[in-house]
Amino acid sequence: MPARSGAQYIADLKKMKREIWIGGERVDDVTTHPATRRGVESYAHLYDMQYDPALRDVMTYPSPTTGDRVGISFLTPRTPTDLARRREMMRQWANYSGGMMGRTPDYVNTSFMAMAAASDYFAANDPRFGENVRNYYDYIREHDLCLTHTLINPQANRSKGVNEQADPYLPAGIVTTNSDGVVIRGCRMLATSAPLADEIMVFPSTVVKNENADKYAFAFSIATDTPGMKFICRESLDQGKSHFDHPLASRFEEMDAIVVFDDVTVPWERMFLFGDMERCNGCYGATDAVVHMMHQVCIKNIAKAEFLLGVILMMIETVAIEQFQHVQEKAAEVMTYLETMKACLRAAEADAHLDSWGVMTPARMPLDIARNMFPKMYPRIVEIIQLLGASGLMAIATEADFAGPIAADVSKYLQAANADGKERVRLYRLAWDIACSGFGGRQELYERYFFGDPIRMMSALYFGYDKEPLKERIRSFLHQEDASVAPTPVAAGG
Ligand SMILES: Cc1cc2nc3c(=O)[nH]c(=O)nc-3n(C[C@H](O)[C@H](O)[C@H](O)COP(=O)(O)OP(=O)(O)OC[C@H]3O[C@@H](n4cnc5c(N)ncnc54)[C@H](O)[C@@H]3O)c2cc1C
Repeated sequence: MPARSGAQYIADLKKMKREIWIGGERVDDVTTHPATRRGVESYAHLYDMQYDPALRDVMTYPSPTTGDRVGISFLTPRTPTDLARRREMMRQWANYSGGMMGRTPDYVNTSFMAMAAASDYFAANDPRFGENVRNYYDYIREHDLCLTHTLINPQANRSKGVNEQADPYLPAGIVTTNSDGVVIRGCRMLATSAPLADEIMVFPSTVVKNENADKYAFAFSIATDTPGMKFICRESLDQGKSHFDHPLASRFEEMDAIVVFDDVTVPWERMFLFGDMERCNGCYGATDAVVHMMHQVCIKNIAKAEFLLGVILMMIETVAIEQFQHVQEKAAEVMTYLETMKACLRAAEADAHLDSWGVMTPARMPLDIARNMFPKMYPRIVEIIQLLGASGLMAIATEADFAGPIAADVSKYLQAANADGKERVRLYRLAWDIACSGFGGRQELYERYFFGDPIRMMSALYFGYDKEPLKERIRSFLHQEDASVAPTPVAAGG
């Protein structure tokens, strides 16, 4: 089956009878429900881009099994050109939302692309699992499915291990196995975009570290309408307002949900790892899936930084604050962030190599740097929008004000040096939706946490960094007796 259009994506979502809960009510149809409808429409637009004649070759490639055109985020890169094609496709999707939709389907597609290429890793747990992961990758590619994923156990008690919580089935765990599959009970959090997704990938993060925690060690993927599965969503940030009033929330609400498994049977053919803690802990690194996911994230973050910088530059122009040095300095600070991210992406692609699975893989270190820097950069860029926007972020009359009896007042008093009242408010409402609204607050939290706890990510970077050549250089400097030059060490990092 070729890549889906937006209409096919929506039709498929409508067919699913899922347990999605929002505000105490079960939602029958996410494609029409006000909390999710416009997020679905935005995802549908992404699918439609695959059918835009101008983008067809950018977005799709001939399937290796059917020859039908399928999404490029599934393309297994074997050459630097393939990697560049993946980047360009992902850039198109990221630009559509200014990077505000973090979980577009390319994110999880990318991890299954890498895991299928590394199927021997799963086969070492059980030969069937290697085949399962390859078949599953073919299945989601040929049906162009949208996946959410969940990796983290409920917070409950972080001073205890996963197997020491108040209830053994607070975190999702294995209850039993039978000839049909594996029965799972308990909870996982969080699954961004769950109501918008056809399937859910339930994988370990790297936290199954305790002894006797085998029953929490598994990896599988199932349809979001699998019996027994419940998605409990947070309140929607889409309040049904116009694009003028809530420019981002009215378009890009992806939704987040916790996932409950009430004795869900996972068919054996959807199991990829089972009871093997070591393989669960090592899975993202050993398959290089994490590197390809970081590649997607870096592309998305560049799109987001560009979008925010554009807003900042427009704000500076609109109320004529360019002449102030600290304003220039703040905008330039954002420019340094953006250019740093771009340099990381470029370095990662320039130093790409064929990994042990035969996949052209970007260099890990520049992407690791990028993913560790962005959770600090993003809140700072948001702060800069607040610092430059000041009261302008609150003087944001609504679209209705511009159409009602006080239209003349708001048009006059909200005018700016370089925009009339309505155009100025249009821009500042966008800045508000980035920096002050509920949607904006969730974006900030998302950037801080979605790839993991920033503290533990930095710690992993510290331990993964090639430190020895640098220490050796200092050792030889300290013991240098004359003016001769210390030998240049092997370059660190890479
Ligand atoms: C908006 C949003 C969307 C998300 N979407 C998804 C998704 O789609 N799929 C998914 O799988 N996950 C998702 N996540 C979850 C994300 O992976 C986690 O937030 C992240 O891994 C941190 O885990 P936690 O939230 O359980 O925080 P915790 O691990 O509970 O951490 C809370 C605090 O305690 C500290 N802490 C706790 N334990 C330790 C420790 N052992 N060592 C040091 N410090 C510790 C942390 O540093 C932090 O300050 C999302 C998160 C957010 C905020």
